[in-house]
Amino acid sequence: MNHIRPISGSSTVSPTLVDPFGRQIDYLRVSVTDRCDFRCVYCMSEHMTFLPKPDLLTLEELDRICSAFVSRGVRKLRITGGEPLVRRDIMTLFRSLSRHLESGVLKELTLTTNGSQLTRFAKELASYGIKRINVSLDTLDPVKFKALTRWGDLSKVLEGIDAAQQAGIHVKINAVALKGDNEDEIASLMEWAHGRSMDLALIEVMPLGDVGTERVDQYLPLSLVRACLAEKYTLEDIDFRTGGPARYVQIKETGGRLGFITPLTHNFCEGCNRVRLTCTGTLYMCLGQEDAADLRGPMRASESNDLLYAAMDNAIARKPKGHDFVIDRRTKQPAVGRHMSHTGG
Ligand code: SAM
Ligand code: SF4
Repeated sequence: MNHIRPISGSSTVSPTLVDPFGRQIDYLRVSVTDRCDFRCVYCMSEHMTFLPKPDLLTLEELDRICSAFVSRGVRKLRITGGEPLVRRDIMTLFRSLSRHLESGVLKELTLTTNGSQLTRFAKELASYGIKRINVSLDTLDPVKFKALTRWGDLSKVLEGIDAAQQAGIHVKINAVALKGDNEDEIASLMEWAHGRSMDLALIEVMPLGDVGTERVDQYLPLSLVRACLAEKYTLEDIDFRTGGPARYVQIKETGGRLGFITPLTHNFCEGCNRVRLTCTGTLYMCLGQEDAADLRGPMRASESNDLLYAAMDNAIARKPKGHDFVIDRRTKQPAVGRHMSHTGG
């Protein structure tokens, strides 16, 4: 039962956001920019068109919408992109949002990054209460890394991971499993991550946006990866969850954890507790569906949050049950035309 009581700046809105399937929305992912200093082959085409800068929410507006979600029950905020750490003055947003950690209302403020800017920002992030981050890294081979990211430099990312760990931040590595690219390297990537006390989460490639390549040529089902790993390692199912869709196993031989994020082979929507805000103030209720709600208009229309809360309620009331991702030879179109960098991965 969703108890109704007044919250600041509003008369009778429900304190929490609950969707039609009874899922409480307590996790907001925020894309603060669609731009990036890499061009990963599964995420972007080489010549991406980015949004005009004036369309972006200001950092103050991003803070206002995030804070509105926090006052409506969001307990975990993940800042992402594009590459969040390339947005100018982004530390201002982390600093201002950290007040919700200090007050104890927000349980976790975190980010997903490609790691390229961490040497510059790791210490400051730690000082704002960031305790855990996800760093995306698909290969430890510098040549392959260059080919997969097109513009990235592996040594910078590795230095960034060092800097984060030295600042006391727990790092989890995210790797997209890519047929023919890193498929032979997954075991060594895992041994490396576990050797440095980092969890590794593997992700199935999702059909988001046109990237100029056939998705079926990139797609590697994690059921196959798991079966291959099981020939060499002992995988023990564990209950460990990080609030996301990953299902974890413990690897007996390394003592580390390995997560599987399987939107294709095992639909994970039933427990979905999240929504995603783009850098232009559009709220997507599902990564894999087109329906979206504009929050920028209602926010800008009034200094009070009443219109914004009403728009949030309307949006959550439309949250769909799940996505309809398919990757096969017959399906030529991406499930949705937006790239991951727009919606926020
Ligand atoms: N730039 C940051 C980074 O790479 O971590 C944050 C944004 S990026 C869009 C977030 C995550 O989405 C990364 O782990 C990336 O590997 C993943 N990603 C991007 N496109 C994807 C796709 N089509 N399918 C699956 N994962 C994807
Ligand atoms: Fe940039 Fe991240 Fe997309 Fe790679 S996955 S192009 S680092 S936004």
